[in-house]
Amino acid sequence: MNKDQFIKYLIDNNIQYNEEMLNQLDIYASFLLEYNSHTNLTAIRNIEDVYLKHFLDSILLIKNWNFNSSAKVLDIGTGAGFPGIILKIFRPDLDITLLDSNNKKIAFLNELIGKLNLQNICVINDRAENFIIKNREVFDYVTSRAVSNLNLLSELSIPFVKIGGYFIPMKGNYECELKESLNAINVLGGELIETIDYQLPIENSNRSIIVIKKNKATDQCYPRLYDKIKKKPL
Ligand code: SAM
Repeated sequence: MNKDQFIKYLIDNNIQYNEEMLNQLDIYASFLLEYNSHTNLTAIRNIEDVYLKHFLDSILLIKNWNFNSSAKVLDIGTGAGFPGIILKIFRPDLDITLLDSNNKKIAFLNELIGKLNLQNICVINDRAENFIIKNREVFDYVTSRAVSNLNLLSELSIPFVKIGGYFIPMKGNYECELKESLNAINVLGGELIETIDYQLPIENSNRSIIVIKKNKATDQCYPRLYDKIKKKPL
């Protein structure tokens, strides 16, 4: 998807943008590709794929989900900033925390945030299982893209969500993993509300947002240690 096609998509789909946001995307794309030539951040290596598979894919989260104004959002396993940085560019009112355990990606994000002059965004180099200790039930929304299967991801993510808030992971084809995660979602205090299905344009591949509402506090014993979650999923 070239930049003209990208802008046309925003206009045709009534996605609000301005020149500053487009400039920020230009800077993001160039810096990502340049950095990726010496440090492995993403398998995507050309600008058209960056616009389609990273930028537009992340924007589709905002198009399909209405974040309350000024909400606190955690992006778990943000990698090179997807969807978290794109959320911040298109919804500057949101208070965003980007979490990743990989320090190379965190170094990239810190430099990027300076270049884009983003405010009210924080970058944390930690594992979700550790970061939870001081951040239990403090986020209105937790999101995540391409981190792990939904069962494991639910145990890492739902403990961060405030009661009444939402865990909204982005997924490709999800039917099997959703079935296998229903018990975990319930045990962790969540409730599956709906799945929102749509397609990534041009390649027409399936995408979804799984909407999980947190109704009850999560028992303090979750999340368990990573090895335990993997060996004995809920
Ligand atoms: N969300 C980004 C995207 O869609 O492009 C990155 C996806 S990448 C495949 C998965 C990321 O999750 C990696 O950067 C990895 O370091 C991070 N990650 C995996 N497990 C994690 C954990 N337990 N806590 C924090 N980050 C984690």
